[in-house]
Amino acid sequence: MEHTFGNNTWPQIKAALEADAPVVAILPCGATEAHGRHLPLNTDVIISDGMAAYALPALEEAGVVAFMLPSLPYAPAEYAAEFAGTLSVSAEAAAGVIFDIARGLKAQGFACLALANSHFDPANVQMLREVTGRIETELQLPVAFPDFTRRKLAQTLTDEFKSGACHAGQYETSLVMASRPELVDEPARQASNDNPASLTDAFAKGAKTFEEAGGPQAYFGYPRAATPDEGVQTYETLAAALVEAIRAKLPA
Ligand SMILES: [Zn+2]
Repeated sequence: MEHTFGNNTWPQIKAALEADAPVVAILPCGATEAHGRHLPLNTDVIISDGMAAYALPALEEAGVVAFMLPSLPYAPAEYAAEFAGTLSVSAEAAAGVIFDIARGLKAQGFACLALANSHFDPANVQMLREVTGRIETELQLPVAFPDFTRRKLAQTLTDEFKSGACHAGQYETSLVMASRPELVDEPARQASNDNPASLTDAFAKGAKTFEEAGGPQAYFGYPRAATPDEGVQTYETLAAALVEAIRAKLPA
């Protein structure tokens, strides 16, 4: 068995579902969105894939069979819509895809859908909360969704993350440096001066674009302070929360 869902054949998936252990499908949720001048559009997909990958060994140890579904690279991302390369889809469209994936998982006998999300646009987080509720009530499929914008989980993350200056800054740049360093434009990172503007404060005050929020280059925070070591540490924190959320949804 391969943890990457799409690399398995259908008989391999069938065998996993027929065995005794509960089978979990992890859907990494990202976006295709501008992330400063130095990080790729795919940043949130890379981070969500990494969160899922770091969670796999702990799940295996706990006797949980888990697969990583192909990641979802489209999400509501209107704040970044003015930047070339951002492809924002409606909350309704994204929720429809997630709901339909859940319907398929339920019909096939999966025990749980886990959402590994790192795209914190409020419209995306709201959509994920709502679709989680709909899947659990309408399909009776448990959904593990560690929501890092909730205070309890946010407190486990870095100071920059908690400050709200957290888009393509030290936090996300460290994560990409840890897993896909070749995709970081290093001269552009070094040229990205500190931008302490808090994106979450700006959202709360009604800003509708990164520019209005004080991020004319589509980044907030401190890209120059990023390190691969911080990225690895953060992956471990993200993965631990994902594992805990999954275990809470499975029969003891
Ligand atoms: Zn991001």
